[in-house]
Amino acid sequence: MAIVKKREIEQLAQLSGEELERFLDRLPGTRTQFDRLFDYLEMKLEDEPCNHTSRFTMQFIMQNMMNFGKVSGWLSQNGGYCDCKIMEEIAPLWWEKFS
Ligand SMILES: [Zn+2]
Repeated sequence: MAIVKKREIEQLAQLSGEELERFLDRLPGTRTQFDRLFDYLEMKLEDEPCNHTSRFTMQFIMQNMMNFGKVSGWLSQNGGYCDCKIMEEIAPLWWEKFS
């Protein structure tokens, strides 16, 4: 049986206080950058369907001079293997917590 490591993003709902601060410290970007990333992806995917790569994510990372390796690593660890997966697996949990 495969060992399924619980994704960090799934624990987000339960975090508060210091734990939430630690989560945000470990993020490979600021909270605002991630807010804007998810908004950007939502807007882009409305115009063009996902081609199951992270092309729009990549554009955003470049434009915002974020660390590509760290950001894409964090996203894929949390199930965001392409732009639409990021919107399915990560953005809803993020928005539930922060909006
Ligand atoms: Zn996709």
